Amino acid sequence: MNTKHTPRDQRGTTMREFRILSPLTAKELPMVFISHTATEIDRIVSKSNQAFEIYRQLSGKEKSLFLKEIAVQLIAERESIISQCAKETGLPIPRLIAEFDRTIHQLHLYGDLVYEGSWVNARIDRADPLRQPIPKPDVRQMQIPLGPVGVFCASNFPLAFSVAGGDTVSALAAGCSVVVKGHSAHLGTAHVVVGAIKEAAQRMGLPEGLVELVQGMGKDVGIELVTNPAIKAIGFTGSTQGGLAISKTAAERPEPIPVYAEMGSVNPVFILPEAMQENGEGIAEGLAASATLSVGQFCTNPGLTITLAEHAGPFMKRLKTHFETVPWGTMLTLDIKKAYDEGIERILGIKGVELIASGAVTDTPFGGTAYLLHTKAETLLDNHELMEEVFGPETLVVTCTDKGQLLAVAAALHGSLTGTIHGTSKDVAEYDDLRRILEGKVGRLVFNGFPTGVEVCHSMVHGGPFPATSDAKFTSVGTMAIYRFTRPICYQSCPKDLLPKELHDDNPLGICRLIDGKFTKDILLNFKKGGNMP
Ligand code: NAP
Repeated sequence: MNTKHTPRDQRGTTMREFRILSPLTAKELPMVFISHTATEIDRIVSKSNQAFEIYRQLSGKEKSLFLKEIAVQLIAERESIISQCAKETGLPIPRLIAEFDRTIHQLHLYGDLVYEGSWVNARIDRADPLRQPIPKPDVRQMQIPLGPVGVFCASNFPLAFSVAGGDTVSALAAGCSVVVKGHSAHLGTAHVVVGAIKEAAQRMGLPEGLVELVQGMGKDVGIELVTNPAIKAIGFTGSTQGGLAISKTAAERPEPIPVYAEMGSVNPVFILPEAMQENGEGIAEGLAASATLSVGQFCTNPGLTITLAEHAGPFMKRLKTHFETVPWGTMLTLDIKKAYDEGIERILGIKGVELIASGAVTDTPFGGTAYLLHTKAETLLDNHELMEEVFGPETLVVTCTDKGQLLAVAAALHGSLTGTIHGTSKDVAEYDDLRRILEGKVGRLVFNGFPTGVEVCHSMVHGGPFPATSDAKFTSVGTMAIYRFTRPICYQSCPKDLLPKELHDDNPLGICRLIDGKFTKDILLNFKKGGNMP
């Protein structure tokens, strides 16, 4: 954590106070934060639960207006958010501007989704009282919100995956309230952002407590949040260790709850023979840029590159030249920097792994150096720790003797967020087995591109089998992420006036519904013929 107790803490009088270290100067920033106690967290969650009971009754159009009002308030605070965030994270301003814009885009995307309304996945099976041997009842289904959601801010996405980020916004769109656990790397930013959300809620006449922030030194605050009985789901982005600890805690509650944890991912990139021969140097350029982007601190960072040894010469040469010229960069936290250095040391300690190139070196406490490493397929297959994420600007190139060995490497890999194939049409036809293997390993297959840069859209899957995430059935980016925070409810033979509008016969919201097995926006014109609503 980028935190340090104040001197008064050591005297035992203000143990709840802490400050954040600037990654740029390694010195304390002026803001003082106070750790929340268990009692305070309980009060905050209880406020969130009260807000949920009101908020869940809002129409899609009202929720849409709220999400868009949050965007308005964030834009009003844009300068202070970006400047505070730059001080706390050391991330360059252009990167933060791009992330801010993505945050606003997410709010509009979800706002539009819930305004249109079909996302609730309404289904109607009409009654058939004359059916033999037993009458068929009227059965209707749609998605409803789970309840207050706990969201852990991501160290590496202080805006787009933190207080007003993807987890929070998808939960709000679903109709849930949110209690955010601020990340110690950017707590000042979290305060400005939560203030903007509260302003939006106030302007809309919505209850206080829709989005709350908890913070503190150590793991206790997160655990208090996860174990609070009013919390009904968790969104998490961070380490495998942290994600597993939180999942275990959630599973051991008297009422277990789902944890949607995004954790470690190596994002393998496969370069097939003809593509290598035709464009090896071009691929090397793109790969080096992707692996070192933002000091490698992206969950989609390509940590493993797999190719045949034959024809790889010019590719390796270009990759080496590129890595040698990469400047050092400021990493987000001392823990991340430490984990990165230890990871590189661990890999280099494995017999058969060689260092091909390194970028500029620094003794700055938060400074991270880019590394290009190489090994042969047999070494990787004998040392499974080489398949684990090392979070930072490195990639390990694995060379194989033939197609069989390349497929064996693919088959041995753990789950990842992405898998990339560089290949000509001849390559991809010849290596169709590779596509099939990767389909079982990743959430997103990229062809002739690079995994960093996640489009926020309706079709995106930012998920994947363990250890990439704790639940491969869901995505944390894109509008499908809303389903992490909802559940289906079914109404059988329900009186008409008790049904939610989404399930009314006359489809007053004009949404797309599955009626008797067919998707339609139609109203139930013929309902009376076959049905018997009370
Ligand atoms: P982290 O250490 O897992 O922390 C993430 C959040 O979870 C923090 O708020 C942390 O609280 C909390 N936390 C961690 N362990 C916990 C536990 N046992 N119980 C309760 N709360 C817990 O992740 P990080 O600080 O973001 O970065 C550390 C490492 O995570 C990186 O080196 C990298 O390997 C990985 N990472 C991966 C991704 C990805 O998308 N794949 C993204 C970011 C980081 P405190 O801060 O208060 O301790």
